[in-house]
Amino acid sequence: MIIVMLGAPGAGKGTQAAMICDKYDIPHVSTGDIFRANIKNGTELGKKAKAFMDEGKLVPDELTIELLLDRVSQDDCAKGYVLDGFPRTIPQAEVLTNALAKAGEKVDFAINVDVPDENIIKRMSGRRSCPKCGASYHVEFVPPKKEGICDVCGSELIQREDDKPETVKNRLSVYHDQTQPLIEYYEKAGALQAVDGTKDKDEVFADIVSILG
Ligand code: ADP
Ligand code: AMP
Repeated sequence: MIIVMLGAPGAGKGTQAAMICDKYDIPHVSTGDIFRANIKNGTELGKKAKAFMDEGKLVPDELTIELLLDRVSQDDCAKGYVLDGFPRTIPQAEVLTNALAKAGEKVDFAINVDVPDENIIKRMSGRRSCPKCGASYHVEFVPPKKEGICDVCGSELIQREDDKPETVKNRLSVYHDQTQPLIEYYEKAGALQAVDGTKDKDEVFADIVSILG
């Protein structure tokens, strides 16, 4: 089962991807998490990616596509995986479609987590993330059991650099220009499913489970 999570930044893709992966026991592949791990480890890729991420721009396709294809070719992805934050451009989607087709595979479900822009700013300004395992919380809507501490791995939660209001505005505009067209792309491919992402996270998850079966 290959699943792509679609939706604006802050729509809840990562939150839902983590729940799907837990239930179906498949890996959660987040390009954002991979870039952040590279930044933390001070790699060349991390240095290059940071400059774009800090401005709310997309990391260029040349740096992103190879990285993703390499990740999904690893053994743990053999039974399927959830892509969170990839593809984000039509060229990325095309490369993915072609690479999967060569292996006789396809994206089975592209799940659009639909949340209007008005809700996004509030979600992103209250987001707290785990720098170690990538888990996502919200100070008001999805609080951790112990304030400031990750439920999953016990690390101290942080506020992401790119969740500042100025950067969020850029990210939303980049989303509308470059990523939103993927909704139509996957609709044409017959893989699109939409869920109302304004509901509570457990309700959204129940809707996704009823789609996946
Ligand atoms: P994305 O991966 O799409 O950028 P996240 O999963 O990190 O988004 O969610 C963005 C923020 O919204 C986080 O603070 C998260 O805890 C919160 N959130 C996620 N799902 C919901 C929901 N259904 N209702 C309210 N807040 C949510
Ligand atoms: P995310 O964690 O998905 O919100 O991604 C954080 C940032 O990482 C984005 O704003 C981009 O700068 C970069 N990024 C993540 N995934 C991609 C991608 N598929 N293509 C280009 N840039 C990406």
